[in-house]
Amino acid sequence: MSNVTVRELAEKLNIGVGEFIKKLMSLGAFATINQRLDADTAILAAAEYGVELEIQPLYGEEMLLAEGSAPDDPKDLRPRPPVITVMGHVDHGKTSLLDVLRKSRVAEQEAGGITQHLGASKVATPKGTLVFLDTPGHEAFSAMRARGAKATDIVVLVVAANDGVMTQTIEAIDHAKAANVPILVAINKIDLPDANPERVRQDLGKYGLIPEQWGGKTVMVEVSAKRRQNLEKLLDMLLLSGEMLELKANPNRPASGVILEARMHAKKGAVASLLVQNGTLNVGDNFVTGLAYGRVRALQDEHGTRLEKAGPSTPVELLGLNGLPQAGDPFRVVSSDRQARDIAEKRRLILREEALAHRHHVTLQSIHRGSGARAKELKIILKADVQGSLEALRDSLEKLSTQQIHLRVIHAATGSINPSDSILADASDALILGFHVSIEPRAKEEAERREVEIRSYSIIYELLADIKAALEGLLEPQEVEVKLGILQIRNIFQLSKAGKIAGCWVQDGMVRRNAQFKILRGGQVLGRGRVAGLKRFKEDAREVEKGLECGVQLEGAPEFQAGDLLEIFTVEKQARRLETAS
Ligand code: GDP
Repeated sequence: MSNVTVRELAEKLNIGVGEFIKKLMSLGAFATINQRLDADTAILAAAEYGVELEIQPLYGEEMLLAEGSAPDDPKDLRPRPPVITVMGHVDHGKTSLLDVLRKSRVAEQEAGGITQHLGASKVATPKGTLVFLDTPGHEAFSAMRARGAKATDIVVLVVAANDGVMTQTIEAIDHAKAANVPILVAINKIDLPDANPERVRQDLGKYGLIPEQWGGKTVMVEVSAKRRQNLEKLLDMLLLSGEMLELKANPNRPASGVILEARMHAKKGAVASLLVQNGTLNVGDNFVTGLAYGRVRALQDEHGTRLEKAGPSTPVELLGLNGLPQAGDPFRVVSSDRQARDIAEKRRLILREEALAHRHHVTLQSIHRGSGARAKELKIILKADVQGSLEALRDSLEKLSTQQIHLRVIHAATGSINPSDSILADASDALILGFHVSIEPRAKEEAERREVEIRSYSIIYELLADIKAALEGLLEPQEVEVKLGILQIRNIFQLSKAGKIAGCWVQDGMVRRNAQFKILRGGQVLGRGRVAGLKRFKEDAREVEKGLECGVQLEGAPEFQAGDLLEIFTVEKQARRLETAS
């Protein structure tokens, strides 16, 4: 959502509001004078008048960031601990592993252990510190991402060595990949007699995760959460991976971070768990987070210890909020109480309007309309009933990619469309395509709430035809010349005011006022311009047909003489056809 109304934009473009509304209609947008335009429509409409529009979100995160400070000076940057999310198939041991990692011998725990539930916890080892997010699973991970938060640096993918790669393992891989977060694999339950870590490694290869010992890039560690085997190695590898990512933050700037959880507490009021990602948060700082704001009244770590400040990669409990933010809401310190309140209030206003307008996730229709014209990649989540169809569809879909538009299947799996698909689609701005599969009711709800488009098909051809048509809509229209006629210039009249007039004979087709022309002499194009005026005898004419004579006022023509030919044409915009490999 931009913040510009129809009236404001028309004024900025220096055109009448009425005309502008008509132009909007021709673009498929029906708006009233005081209505705010969504960013895509505003950009598109301005482009019609040759103006390139740049939308600055009002008090959006980008602006706050820019306001927060200049970019960090590299010399102020300090290494920070990596933040880790554990993912994997149900029952493969995510919770158990998180638990033992936090309590492992190598992690020196302070007396009293963890007493506060913070949504994340720091694990300090003699070799370095790691931060684990509490909520395991890819749904929580992508739900955060859908709110615009990138909280995770590394994903630990837990795969049970006896079970191997399962549906949610694949989902987790695709969710992590879509977010561009590196994956480290923990092959768990190696204590079981039917454990087969070798098969796990082989299966993971199919999804692009190749172990280092086979020349790939993925670190894979065999562990047993139950027997506490190899935990130290896993922690070491996580620390190493963190180092390789060269994660840095500047502790000497106002804090920013992300809300992990928030709840009402009977005595304390609104309480949030916050992960500080950059800067240092101090008691007394003013902040905004989502629609809430406040002043830091108290900070606590996971052991219940009061803190005066919290630096990068630190989870803390935060008191002093005026309301409840949502998990995934970005958090920022601002300079004053007044600024905090202003921003929160503006956001509330914008949100109210946004609720009335549409969000703009990619839909087939939006692509048709061309409002997704700047998105030159179409991301797809593909679900099919059987592996065979899935492979065939994925192949055919990816072949539809052209030089202009890349089509990327970010997740393909057999089985019904589930809530995790809807959440991934939201987080990644993707379309969900189903082939001979049902949509789980909760997936449908999530998709509706998040305004994600799900399309179901039972005929492959129809699915492909729809996508192809949508992709064609994604292309900028092509301008083509449509030939109207050929004129012979027979004599030239010099008029005092209007310049020269060419006396012509219509040799073929017709000539129309406001059409374009090319002057041809001996097969060469000498000039181009517009038919600014057209006369039959002394009368103005709109069109003159073959075999008749007329006077033509040639705008933009440098020179012409009797004997020259005029080719008359119009320029039309045509949807471009895709040239595909198939
Ligand atoms: P989650 O659903 O992925 O969080 O899995 P849980 O951590 O709840 O574990 C599922 C089951 O596997 C539980 O009964 C655990 O006790 C068991 N489990 C977890 N890790 C291991 C392990 O390393 N070895 C064995 N034998 N069982 C494990």
